[in-house]
Amino acid sequence: MGDVNTGRTPQFDTIITGGEVVDPGAGLTGRLDVGIAAGKIAAVEAELNPADAGQVIDAAGQFVVPGLIDLHTHVYWGATYWGVWPDPVAARSGVTSWLDVGSSGAYSFPGFRKFIVEPSKSKVFALLNLSSIGLIAQTWEFSNLDYCDVDLAEMITNLNRDLILGIKARIDRNTTRGTGIKPLELARELADRVDLPLMVHIGQGPPALDEISKYLRPGDILTHCFTGHDNRVIAPDRTFLPYMKQLKEQGVVFDIGHGAGSFSFDTAEAMLAQGELPDVISTDIHQIAIQGPMFDMPTTLSKFLNLGMSLPDVIERATSRPAAAMRRPDLGTLRPGSAADVALFKIDEGDFTFQDIFMNVKKGNKLLVNTMTMIDGEVLPRVEADPLQPWAELPEWQRGKVLPVRPVS
Ligand SMILES: [Zn+2]
Repeated sequence: MGDVNTGRTPQFDTIITGGEVVDPGAGLTGRLDVGIAAGKIAAVEAELNPADAGQVIDAAGQFVVPGLIDLHTHVYWGATYWGVWPDPVAARSGVTSWLDVGSSGAYSFPGFRKFIVEPSKSKVFALLNLSSIGLIAQTWEFSNLDYCDVDLAEMITNLNRDLILGIKARIDRNTTRGTGIKPLELARELADRVDLPLMVHIGQGPPALDEISKYLRPGDILTHCFTGHDNRVIAPDRTFLPYMKQLKEQGVVFDIGHGAGSFSFDTAEAMLAQGELPDVISTDIHQIAIQGPMFDMPTTLSKFLNLGMSLPDVIERATSRPAAAMRRPDLGTLRPGSAADVALFKIDEGDFTFQDIFMNVKKGNKLLVNTMTMIDGEVLPRVEADPLQPWAELPEWQRGKVLPVRPVS
């Protein structure tokens, strides 16, 4: 960074030039150049001199945004039912930080650190599952309360506060089979003891949403907030349930967590029509959802663009908003001094097809396309996707019904 007093010219490793910066969280918007030095954002200015840079990336006609943060992911590859390997997806989707939510429990967290977080170029954080076995299997993690060891989970959290940013509890009829609201009661206790946010997943009850809602506090995260299942946040007349609206106003974070079973166009349209935008847009990417109709973060963000949200509103919900929910405001920003995590996107115009998890179809004319993903100043190489696990089959009602987003010529 230049010394203003002597007027010395700043030197950059890379300048991203000619692009349209979209970083609403940092208040950086417009045609700006981004200078990068030593893995950090060194300058964001109207014009930087290409002669000052070792490398120039031409971003003309593209959007320059902070590396995306995906607040709901499953990246514990090889040790859980759901996990995908993060870096290949990061390189083609603009996601530079992953919050893995509950794949690991106390017993499997050490492996998560050593085998996933440490070898990954992309930044991986976790919410610890209250269940000490985490998501090694498809579901049922709370059906045996012996796995809900609050003391153990508290100890593991305290030993790993650099990576564990909160607590995860999936609360639905399968995860809690036979144990009712007890796992949520224990998750609440754990989150309070470690003073971190609690992410609660909703879908099909029991427990019912009104019972679940009593355990949510400001700063907690309600994921699958636009579910179409019986625990959806809208009433039969499609108005926002008053007790859920109150929680949102009090600061409970409404997070999309699209996944394979948790995003309904009907709920989304009803909420957006009432001016109720989600607080965070996340993918719930995993072995199943990656096959569509979720696919990836750019596709998920494109659904909201085509539902009428603006590009800055959408980008904010995948950058500074999730960063705030993780209490990591240093991430998801192009503010000078922060890590040089940057993504380039173009918007393709055309005739695109989007589906919700019930396979309802919505046409749209805009598609966000990631063209470059940079982490700590280094461009991530695009590599072939990992093969899916042999058990990774779409649910029966989706099988054979996933339509390509782009028209097939
Ligand atoms: Zn999930």
